[in-house]
Amino acid sequence: MLALRPYLRMIKIPAHRNAISHLLNASHNLAVERYRYRRHEDGSYITQDNRPCRYCDDRTESEVHVLFNCGGCPDLVEKRSTFMLKVLDKSGPVLRDLCYAEPVSAVVTLLDHKQLCTDFARFTHDVLKMFPL
Ligand SMILES: [Zn+2]
Repeated sequence: MLALRPYLRMIKIPAHRNAISHLLNASHNLAVERYRYRRHEDGSYITQDNRPCRYCDDRTESEVHVLFNCGGCPDLVEKRSTFMLKVLDKSGPVLRDLCYAEPVSAVVTLLDHKQLCTDFARFTHDVLKMFPL
C-alpha cells in the first residue's frame, strides 16, 4: 500500500526533505554506497568492511556511522552533540540512548516524532553535506 509518510509533510525545507529521501533510499555519497558498484582491479567486489570512512579509521563509512558514531571530524561531532541535546530536551534519554544502541530503530522513531522530525532532517542534511563526492 502506498501512503504519504507524515515526515514528508512535517519537513518543510525541501533540501532537508531531500536529505531524508537520500538517506532512506541509499542515494547519497557515503562510501558504503559509492563502492557498491565498483570493483577491485581483479574484478572482485569491494566488501562493506573495505569502504572506509574519510574522517576516521572506521572500516565502513555508512549512514549509521556518520550519523551516530564517527568521531573523526570535530564539526561533525559538534553537530551531533547539538542534535542529541535536542533529542534529550524534547524526548528524553531513552530515545537518545536508542540512537546509539539501535540506530535504525531510532531513525524510524525520529521520523515519526512530531517535535524532532525537522531537527533530524536538518541534522541529516548537514551531515550528508559533509560527505560530498
Ligand atoms: Zn568516521
